Amino acid sequence: MWPMIPKGIYCFNYHRIGDENASIFDPNVFSCTAKQFEQHVQFYNKNFIVISIEQLIDKIERNLPIDNKYALITFDDGYIDNYDIAYPILKKYQTPAAFYVATNYLDTPHIPWWDEIAWIIRHTNNTQIKFENWSETVDISSGSITEKVRNILRVIKQDKERTMVDKITELSKICQCEMPDELRKTPLFISWKQAKEMSDNGMHIGSHTMSHTILSHLPPQEQLKEISQSKAIIEQHLSKEVTSIAYPVGGHSAFTETTRQLAQQANYKVAFSFVPGIITSFNSQERFQLKRLPVDGNCKVSQLKNIIVKNT
Ligand SMILES: [Zn+2]
Repeated sequence: MWPMIPKGIYCFNYHRIGDENASIFDPNVFSCTAKQFEQHVQFYNKNFIVISIEQLIDKIERNLPIDNKYALITFDDGYIDNYDIAYPILKKYQTPAAFYVATNYLDTPHIPWWDEIAWIIRHTNNTQIKFENWSETVDISSGSITEKVRNILRVIKQDKERTMVDKITELSKICQCEMPDELRKTPLFISWKQAKEMSDNGMHIGSHTMSHTILSHLPPQEQLKEISQSKAIIEQHLSKEVTSIAYPVGGHSAFTETTRQLAQQANYKVAFSFVPGIITSFNSQERFQLKRLPVDGNCKVSQLKNIIVKNT
């Protein structure tokens, strides 16, 4: 079947690059190793026309047809390995990519909620987890740490009844296990200086909101604040207009029609979801919920091909 794939924009999404076994936090956010990432970049350059966000926006604004197979490389969250590992590889192959940062995470040490939850799951002696308001009990008695963390995160993300801070407090209590304060100083994310260097060298920096809160869980006013203030903060640091946003978490239930309208109102030109698929049209609705292809689980090029074929 390969490489008989349709014309379209194939937007690949990464989180972390590196060795998931060396991490004390969430293994699920590791997309692939450095070596695998270099092979991915070679693969994209051989089989696609790799475009930047600026070229994507140009296509949309000039109403150009999607007349070829294009690849767009994106990273969510702005982990430090994006700068240390991915950026040098992208530079080596002169390949553009976009990095979506949560502005609260830069320059101030911060452990995001999914990493803290993963740390708790790694250290608890519990075999089952259930919050009072959950109908489901999550069994963590067997399986890999990757699976256990994935299962608990799935249920925690669905629970809209309280804030993430409250959910972590509750989880720590149930698990009788709290992440030590000194771990909060772990430098996990890029700095503004590094973001500026990447931006000045052809990489696109976009918004992933300020706090990485799931937007659909917030009232419209607070969504707007997350969407528009993050834009202003990045623009101030980079002296460049921020034209794109990637919704945190990004699945169907992580944003709403209001979210899309607010992104447009805040003067973004495009917005990315994390709904899997390829981009084949730019109508006004699609433009603010562009689909992406998730790259995860120590992804080899052969698996990347499977992801592509499965989604076309
Ligand atoms: Zn994210």
